[in-house]
Amino acid sequence: MSIAICPGSFDPITLGHLNIIRRASKIFDRVIVCVMVNSSKTSPMFTMEERVDMVRRSVRRYPNVDVDTSDHMLAEYAKKYPKAVIVKGLRATSDFEYEFQMNLINKKISPELETLFLTASSKYTFLSSSVVREMARYGADLAGFVPNEIIDEIERKAKGWRKENG
Ligand code: ADP
Repeated sequence: MSIAICPGSFDPITLGHLNIIRRASKIFDRVIVCVMVNSSKTSPMFTMEERVDMVRRSVRRYPNVDVDTSDHMLAEYAKKYPKAVIVKGLRATSDFEYEFQMNLINKKISPELETLFLTASSKYTFLSSSVVREMARYGADLAGFVPNEIIDEIERKAKGWRKENG
């Protein structure tokens, strides 16, 4: 059985992420979306539990997609599934440089671990979780940027943020 691992911080999941997950689910028998604790993002907008719950609700329609979490480095996590391939989305040259570095680290830990890059859909090239967080904080309409199932939750969270920050 072929397995893909789609890692990310998903703070929150966007339609760009979902586009990659859906395409991976057509290529691989099983896809594991792994919500990672991202040490470089010090203060996520959503807790780990909230991020996982939003990913779960967004991928419910795909029967071969599961959701997991990890607070380890990706290459360590991937040892759980020895034949798995990492699948990531590539948006721009900036993603490329970062991913190239990450790949070197992963290869050092697990030389057999391969990473497959799917180019972002042109519709979502400029979409990121940080863009969504910014839009939410200023009360912009999130339709077309994140899965419909999670719009209310993001708006609720952003309302709380606006109250706290005037
Ligand atoms: P972000 O970079 O939006 O904060 P993550 O760290 O959760 O998101 O990213 C996880 C993976 O999803 C990365 O491989 C990233 O390149 C990919 N990704 C994020 N947004 C998109 C998008 N709009 N289209 C394609 N891939 C994306």
